[in-house]
Amino acid sequence: MHTQVVQERMLISDQWQHGQQSIEVIDPGTNHVIATVPAATEADAKAAIEAAKEGAEIARQMPIHERAAILKRTAEIVTRDRELFAQTIAKEGSKTIREARSEVRRCIETLTLSGEEAKRLHGETIPFSQMPGHERRVGYFYRFPIGIIVAITPFNDPLNLVAHKIGPAIAAGNSLIIKPSSFTPLSALRLVKALEEAGLPKKIVQVITGHGSVIGPTLTKHRDVRLISFTGGYETGEKIARSAGVKKLAMELGSNSPTIVLQDAELMEAVASCVSGAFCAAGQNCIGVQRIYVEQSVFNSFIQSFVAQTKQLRLGDKQSEETDIGPMISEKEAKRIERWVEEAKEEGARVLTGGRRTGAYFEPTVLTNVSPSSRLAKEEAFAPIVIIEGVHSLTEAVARANDVDFGLQAGLFTNNLTAAFSAIEKLEVGGIMVNDSSDVRIDAMPFGGIKKSGLGREGVRYAIEEMTEQKVVAFHLPEHKI
Ligand code: NAD
Repeated sequence: MHTQVVQERMLISDQWQHGQQSIEVIDPGTNHVIATVPAATEADAKAAIEAAKEGAEIARQMPIHERAAILKRTAEIVTRDRELFAQTIAKEGSKTIREARSEVRRCIETLTLSGEEAKRLHGETIPFSQMPGHERRVGYFYRFPIGIIVAITPFNDPLNLVAHKIGPAIAAGNSLIIKPSSFTPLSALRLVKALEEAGLPKKIVQVITGHGSVIGPTLTKHRDVRLISFTGGYETGEKIARSAGVKKLAMELGSNSPTIVLQDAELMEAVASCVSGAFCAAGQNCIGVQRIYVEQSVFNSFIQSFVAQTKQLRLGDKQSEETDIGPMISEKEAKRIERWVEEAKEEGARVLTGGRRTGAYFEPTVLTNVSPSSRLAKEEAFAPIVIIEGVHSLTEAVARANDVDFGLQAGLFTNNLTAAFSAIEKLEVGGIMVNDSSDVRIDAMPFGGIKKSGLGREGVRYAIEEMTEQKVVAFHLPEHKI
């Protein structure tokens, strides 16, 4: 059967427009072209920034109740069209239909929360008289919109990570240019159409599709852009930071998250949670479990149950309700991880299950005895791969967990409070989940990493802080007493 390829457009200024050239959007599960989007040029990027200047002025003047109402209506439209959104995610990306539905639910929460947080854009009073000579000053600060934001997003959560930029940006009164991943631009386009339907004035949000290497530098270098809100890999983040120069950067980057399982843990709960955390979205998840350190006395039982549960996972057609794991985002990525596994094996690793590739599909794979210096142990795999190693103590587990350049989230399974507090203090990460794997996030919590995992925090309220500036006001009162 021949399906029609839809030619999608991008939104620059107040016009949905085609480009001179286009990019094919490919379903990685079938290799079929499902749509094309414009390949924007540098001139398109400049035009978007010009329109965003007007957009910033319109957004700044929009009363907060209107910002909140538009975000609420957008959440209602996404709720009405939730199955269409889920189908879009499941077609253009790696996620199975069940995973896609769960992302749509999260997007609705993110938008709803953004509308609520718009009403809590608080400042603070400042007690000036604490400093001698300032007895007659009263002051406060309030938050004002930062201006033009460029949001650059990755392929793996093509809807909710875009909502994490759009929601707070509108709540804070800014204009926004979104540059979605060229692998998965369709969910972002659909979300921007929902914003339009909800009544968002033109030019506040634009969406420009194209190759990051072509339009990225124009968008990120421009002096009128005040914040770059980036979610993606470290290497891209570094390029953006170099090109951006002195401007605000919010960076949500990669990781290879650890989870520690101590001997007193509820072992079966730890196994189930780690299997899900390692393999959801085919392991292409920034807080996905990549490294598990298990105390020696329970190592064999943990491994046995973990491998048995991994073997139950069904790899296959994303559209099927039965499927647990879809393909990786491309065959190229699947071949990369195949090479990494081969390298690890040459260095002495043992594959306990999985390890084989068919096209873009890679089996859920469990390895042990992976050399600590191997790429699989040091770098971000971003694939359905997990390594499990035995450790003699919490101290050793923490040392191994920290022995990488990343630090996004970690998990810890224990019933020992002293051990938990010790790990909380020593683990070098932005978030610790006790009695859960590293793969836990709600959209209202501060989310972000240290080391090479990023700068700043997302999570609606915290993104709003990044997307606003503080203005201090002080009144010097006259001498006479009231
Ligand atoms: P990527 O870095 O390859 O691409 C991200 C975005 O950057 C895409 O839109 C891409 O087109 C754009 N881009 C590429 N080159 C650019 C340039 N020179 N200038 C401007 N933009 C450019 O990442 P990806 O493969 O799409 O996503 C996977 C990565 O994202 C992983 O490292 C993952 O951990 C990370 N991620 C982090 C979080 C988080 O919240 N910390 C969440 C999801 C994904």
